[in-house]
Amino acid sequence: MKNEYLLLTPGPLSTSETVREAMLKDWCTWDDDYNKDIVEVIRTKLTRLATKQAGYTSVLMQGSGTASVEATIGSAITPKGKLLVVDNGAYGARIAQIADYLNIETHVIAPGEISRPNLDEIASILEQDIAITHVAIVHCETTTGMLNPIEALIKLAKQHDKTVILDAMSSFGGIPMDIGELGIDFMISSANKCIQGVPGFGFVVAKQSELEKCQGQGRSLSLDLYDQWHCMEVNHGKWRFTSPTHTVRAFYQALLELEQEGGIEARFNRYQTNQKTLVEGMRSLGFRTLLNDDLHSPIITSFYSPEHSDYQFKAFYNRLKEQGFVIYPGKVSNADCFRIGNIGDVYPSDIERLISAVKNAMYWELA
Ligand SMILES: *Cc1c(COP(=O)(O)O)cnc(C)c1O
Repeated sequence: MKNEYLLLTPGPLSTSETVREAMLKDWCTWDDDYNKDIVEVIRTKLTRLATKQAGYTSVLMQGSGTASVEATIGSAITPKGKLLVVDNGAYGARIAQIADYLNIETHVIAPGEISRPNLDEIASILEQDIAITHVAIVHCETTTGMLNPIEALIKLAKQHDKTVILDAMSSFGGIPMDIGELGIDFMISSANKCIQGVPGFGFVVAKQSELEKCQGQGRSLSLDLYDQWHCMEVNHGKWRFTSPTHTVRAFYQALLELEQEGGIEARFNRYQTNQKTLVEGMRSLGFRTLLNDDLHSPIITSFYSPEHSDYQFKAFYNRLKEQGFVIYPGKVSNADCFRIGNIGDVYPSDIERLISAVKNAMYWELA
């Protein structure tokens, strides 16, 4: 089955036909050919993709990416702990919201949606607020496409001996990083982002000694990160509760395809070319990006909506969809934007076709 349109949305995204075909078989969740040969291989591959350092492990968790964020926040922080959260977009705000639901004390730094956090401010907060035990930040803020300065921020957090949680949902697999070298304790991502799988589960790659400290700390049974990990670890890839077998099998295929492409570095190069082609093409049609180029990730780009009185997102969206492209509405609170993602089974030639389609769809210019 071919797709009728390309999803230029950062999750779910366009997957390859072979990833989708991998879902056409049913799997038995107590057999080795599922647990040992699929789940365990995935866990090992994920850990290796995340770091060359020893002492890291991974755990898969049912649900969308947010469930894995919630499992991590709810399991890693004790009742006496306090979380410093950088909120410069909807996903940073969501981490703070999760902490709020779980009655975890937070210190939120909100520099606004189009700015990076001020490191001097964070340094002084870490010095003054000694109750803080954990620091959480989003790597690529998918709200805008902002790439946050995680290296410098994590360095600061580590100087103050804090546990670091990174939401790398929309960057892991698409942007090279070594979480061990960076000093990350918990890194969260999901199946349907840069690994190019289908939705259904998330995963956490964690420093094993930190994950082991989570024993007995989970605030919810189904989102107990330690218990989930422990079950997989002891029972060779067995999930505690029904595992999303078809999604997991498709993810395994997606990991093989990442290797065939040449690994994360090669995928990063493709995404970067996609994003540059997108921005150049859109600028040539008169569109402006929300963020300055130096703040940008190669994942998703926010563009200001045209100011023409005839412009309506829905009509623009429909005209693009008719031509085989699906884009995203904007998500920032104080500017009228739309977003175009360039991750997934998407290539520079697709982006070139998109630019022609956008030109055709600019009905307000013709009016
Ligand atoms: C996609 C995404 C999430 C998780 O979203 P879900 O809808 O729960 O899958 C979290 N953080 C970031 C930065 C994301 O891009």
